Amino acid sequence: MATHSETDVLVIGAGAGGAAMSKRLSDGGVKVTCLEQGDWLHPMNHPHMYDGWELERLRTWSWHPNVRMFPEDYPTTGNAAPMMMNGVGGSTLHYAGAWPRFKPVDFRKGTEHGLEGTIDWPISYEDLEPFYAINDAEIGVARRVGDPGNPPRPEGWGPASRGGKVGRKMGRGFDELGWHWWPADNAILTREKNNRMACNDCGFCLGGCPRHAIASTDVSYWPKALANGVDLRVNARVETITTANGRATGAVYIDRTTGARSEVRAKIVVLAANSIGTPRLLLLSAQKGYPDGLANSNGLVGTHLMFHSWSFEDYWFDEPLEGFKGPEPAVLYSQEFYDTDPSRGFVNGFSLQVGTALGAANSALGTNTGKIAPWGAGHREFFNKHFAHHALVYVQGEDLPVRTNRVTIDPAVVDSSGLPVPHVHYDLHENDRRLITWGQERAREAAEAAGPVIDMATTGIGGVGGPPPGWHIMGTCRMGNTPEDSVTNKWNQTWDVPNLFITDASSLTTGAAVNPTSTLQAVSVRAAEYIKRRFADITSQTKTPSNADAPDF
Ligand SMILES: Cc1cc2nc3c(=O)[nH]c(=O)nc-3n(C[C@H](O)[C@H](O)[C@H](O)COP(=O)(O)OP(=O)(O)OC[C@H]3O[C@@H](n4cnc5c(N)ncnc54)[C@H](O)[C@@H]3O)c2cc1C
Repeated sequence: MATHSETDVLVIGAGAGGAAMSKRLSDGGVKVTCLEQGDWLHPMNHPHMYDGWELERLRTWSWHPNVRMFPEDYPTTGNAAPMMMNGVGGSTLHYAGAWPRFKPVDFRKGTEHGLEGTIDWPISYEDLEPFYAINDAEIGVARRVGDPGNPPRPEGWGPASRGGKVGRKMGRGFDELGWHWWPADNAILTREKNNRMACNDCGFCLGGCPRHAIASTDVSYWPKALANGVDLRVNARVETITTANGRATGAVYIDRTTGARSEVRAKIVVLAANSIGTPRLLLLSAQKGYPDGLANSNGLVGTHLMFHSWSFEDYWFDEPLEGFKGPEPAVLYSQEFYDTDPSRGFVNGFSLQVGTALGAANSALGTNTGKIAPWGAGHREFFNKHFAHHALVYVQGEDLPVRTNRVTIDPAVVDSSGLPVPHVHYDLHENDRRLITWGQERAREAAEAAGPVIDMATTGIGGVGGPPPGWHIMGTCRMGNTPEDSVTNKWNQTWDVPNLFITDASSLTTGAAVNPTSTLQAVSVRAAEYIKRRFADITSQTKTPSNADAPDF
């Protein structure tokens, strides 16, 4: 190898999980190097600032790397469309910042129903609660406390995002039916923090926020991690995690600008390359002693992929709601149907989240569901009735972690560095199909109660006949209870390689019925705290302890 360097902890991936890990470790003085295959992307260069922003988000800025095809991206093959971003900030570079937490019941789904190999998490909500709070404070959550449907949460950095007319409208619908609802937590500043300005309600948050109000990790975590001295190397695509004597020794990466290979040697390696990139790298790291890939002696790496079962419901009302203003993630949510009720014919439940709209082009082009304004005669009438009269309700369901929904390697296709790409297979389970169908009916009921509805449309169940849209990619290297049922223990430590940790969305045991990032970051902060406090033990450990005898902090 031409060049090599040494560090205490090597973090792979600078996205949601990797940024939280790097910052927390470096707060404690740990020497950290982070390798990220993408580059910095200034918020002013996001499509938010383009003239054709409503169209560019579908083309050059698509959430799906196969459409976007930036050099730092890697394509995927298979029947699913995992959506992600590769750069400093990872997929938070184009996320919406919806910030709900998992509920206590979400950590016990193995005991509750155990369907399709669902297992309990090895930790509880109470174990994670302090780390949710630490992470919320870092990102500057917007929140109204007091939700009766969830455990108490600390005050937010600022008040909840403005619900606007859309929020008031749907809130009245839920009230009419006597259903739970509450203003949503969002990772969007409603009060200035450090060098980030508060949200000004300009909308299109998924196109990047020029005010740095939305907590993508390039503006929330990374400035502090860099100030702590973290060595962040961009355009550094990891090819293999190296090992010797049953322990990880570091990684070999390709500099995407020169093609040169270098090695970073580390005492501990933390993988945070997301639920597609992490299993891909473990499988590509097959080597002597690990013929089926690293940390994969039980064959579980890549399995139990989850996306959330999903439906977008567009409703148009007879009054203007100005949905083009305000934050793009949910302004409020109802968790009336969150818990399992077997009489409905399925297990698990869903959230109904109420969101805003985009601009005029989006309205004419079919909003979220493909309800396109007619061309020629009738266009003006349709447009006048529909534009700004719209509310989005999305049904976000907990999908089962099914073993055959999985990431494997497709040796026939390579990325721009010549590395084989992941193949992603996902079939929606019958349970999840039933759940979403029932949820769509409840969403309609709420809209009609808010009424009068003049028009409505739906995406149907998941994608058009295929898997759900893959914007919440979870599972694939789940944490669990024994070396037989999972890839890592309760501290995110792989069972096979004791100094190799996984702290991104791939480690989530189940996916709950809410957006995942606040939870995966809380898990990452918790693992960082463990690594910091038990550093000496981990660096000499030869076998990962069982959860029963895993030492506490
Ligand atoms: C359109 C959209 C909207 C979303 N909205 C929300 C929302 O409102 N709320 C919410 O909670 N979640 C949302 N999400 C999901 C959220 O973005 C993800 O849950 C989160 O970013 C996942 O974090 P992660 O750490 O697993 O991976 P990522 O954030 O994707 O980070 C992984 C990083 O690893 C890097 N990497 C991968 N392979 C390599 C390699 N070989 N070498 C070096 N680097 C590598 C990647 O380049 C990337 O930067 C949304 C996602 C999308 C697509």
